[in-house]
Amino acid sequence: MPRRNELEDQALQIIINRGPKGILQSELWRELGANSRDGSRISLKLEKKNLIIRKREMSKGRWSYRLSIKRPLLEIDSILDIPCISCENITFCVMGGEVSPIRCKNIANWLITLTD
Ligand code: SF4
Repeated sequence: MPRRNELEDQALQIIINRGPKGILQSELWRELGANSRDGSRISLKLEKKNLIIRKREMSKGRWSYRLSIKRPLLEIDSILDIPCISCENITFCVMGGEVSPIRCKNIANWLITLTD
């Protein structure tokens, strides 16, 4: 039987692999070979670490939880147009500096486009 941290890692990997749709808790335990008690502990831990979302769902007449990843993984396409790549100030841009991502309107505008 794998250690609990290994089970957490495996559970998280399975949840990530399922994408935005997630996976039912009971299916996850089956894949992990864990019992429901250990499985519930692991999912609660992952939720407490803010890594997953547990959403109550009726499945085959019984309440269960659907587990999905909290933050979608970053895809390379989403950062291809980041303004820093072509910025003439990139070598001077540091946190707390005269030129800084905190003060940069270009990066602020770009971040807004990600939420559209
Ligand atoms: S945060 Fe702004 S100033 Fe800094 S490198 Fe990126 S685009 Fe340039």
